[in-house]
Amino acid sequence: GDGRSRSQEELFLVDSPNVEYTDTEIKSKYTYRTTSIARNADGRMVATPRATEYDFKVERKVPRVGMMLVGWGGNNGTTVTAGIIANRRGLEWETREGKRGSNYYGSMIMASTIKLGTDAATGNEVNIPFHQLLPMVHPDDLVVGGWDISKMNLADAMDRAQVLEPTLKGLVRKEMAAMTPMPSIYYPDFIAANQEGRADNVLPGSKASMAHVEQLRKDIRDFKAANNLDKVIVQWTANTERYADLVPGINDTADNLLKAIEAGHAEVSPSTVFAVACILEGAPFINGSPQNTFVPGAVQLAERHNAFIGGDDFKSGQTKMKSALVDFLINAGIKLTSIASYNHLGNNDGRNLSSERQFRSKEISKSNVVDDMVAANSVLYKEGEHPDHTVVIKYMPAVGDNKRALDEYYAEIFMGGHQTISIFNVCEDSLLASPLIIDLVLVTEMMTRIQWRASGKEEYAGFHSVLSILSYMLKAPLTPPGTPVVNALAKQRTAMTNIFRACVGLEPESDMTLEHKLF
Ligand code: NAD
Repeated sequence: GDGRSRSQEELFLVDSPNVEYTDTEIKSKYTYRTTSIARNADGRMVATPRATEYDFKVERKVPRVGMMLVGWGGNNGTTVTAGIIANRRGLEWETREGKRGSNYYGSMIMASTIKLGTDAATGNEVNIPFHQLLPMVHPDDLVVGGWDISKMNLADAMDRAQVLEPTLKGLVRKEMAAMTPMPSIYYPDFIAANQEGRADNVLPGSKASMAHVEQLRKDIRDFKAANNLDKVIVQWTANTERYADLVPGINDTADNLLKAIEAGHAEVSPSTVFAVACILEGAPFINGSPQNTFVPGAVQLAERHNAFIGGDDFKSGQTKMKSALVDFLINAGIKLTSIASYNHLGNNDGRNLSSERQFRSKEISKSNVVDDMVAANSVLYKEGEHPDHTVVIKYMPAVGDNKRALDEYYAEIFMGGHQTISIFNVCEDSLLASPLIIDLVLVTEMMTRIQWRASGKEEYAGFHSVLSILSYMLKAPLTPPGTPVVNALAKQRTAMTNIFRACVGLEPESDMTLEHKLF
């Protein structure tokens, strides 16, 4: 497309005996350095540096990728689709503030840069767009499709969403009008009763079934074939469901989950049926909503099939601020004592969340986001001590997609003093979520082309099925069973940049800049 920057491989190459470019792959040898802590009998810690050698290989060919959205006709689904079309065509449109042009602002992959290194001639930092560190898919090239329980075409659905400028809508209308979501599965018990009026595009049956799994698998296969795609990635951006009860014998293991679907058990949600279909079809599945789609049986099924899954809940506004601000406060040695978070929003997501059981899913996903940061600071917090934290969400139709998030952070400072920080955050929710949907697809796709092994081992393998590398984009990050969750925003980004750097044989960026500090 117009104005597209160079591909990764045209921009730079790595000059190192540990890195080899073959016709099809970038291969690197990488030393992963960690510090292992043991405790002596007297309670004293012993820190031992450890080095582990890994081989990485990255497939160089950028595939043709399909992005299939569940809830395609919703605010996020229509907004991200229109945004991609507008970018692909390099559209500009008039607004009352003048001409505006397409961009990928808010996409960390497309609109942020990372430090590649230091200029040999000037000593200055050299920064490159994140998406050029590895050979990544460009979002302009994504083929978009999906399902919705509402059969409205995407042009009308975009009007229903009330997010984009009329002039922009006019430019993409024709293309969007030709897009209609495939029928989906609708089990009324899982989303709010107030959504029922939308459900005019549903497959027969109101409980989980293998027929549903098979139909969704066929939809993915057909979409892939019809668009000549190498890969499809599926993302849940449909309504927030209630939590599914965890029932022994039903959703606790992979086999039990499959049997429960066969038996039409009432505790299997639509999102879990989608997850199972994707796992069996080998299509990565990401959950952008807060509910517990990934019941233990679903995670186990993904592991069994080496299928990628990621979740939960897009981290777009309030929680993103929270995971940055709390990280800052606690790392500054300031004792955060309470967080009060109020939201009101007037879009269909807010309407659905006005129902108690669906709100509860959101409340849970918004609640645990400071746990790791608090637990890491034993100077400020005693064992088990925790700041008070309340989350309120109200449906206020008048504000539409312009969500309001009001947060008060209350902290204890030096010698018994207090600091209060109030934040009033207003923006179109779907314009924050859409670039995250893109980033989740781009990073997930990249992970399907990376293999690694401990040096000396025969076989390469992919990353664990649960893609915790996606945490930056997600409110309640799913991690491989038994592994820690990192919510701190800066750490999440650092993990991603350094894993990507390792894939081209580059050391983590330490920010020590010793070259500027030596006498
Ligand atoms: P929306 O209500 O506008 O869109 C959801 C769409 O899903 C609707 O078109 C609905 O008809 C459809 N749907 C419901 N059940 C379905 C099913 N079983 N199969 C297929 N389609 C189904 O909501 P939105 O604003 O686009 O948000 C989507 C989801 O993303 C919500 O769960 C929301 O909580 C979550 N989320 C949004 C943000 C954000 O910033 N916008 C942030 C975090 C999470």
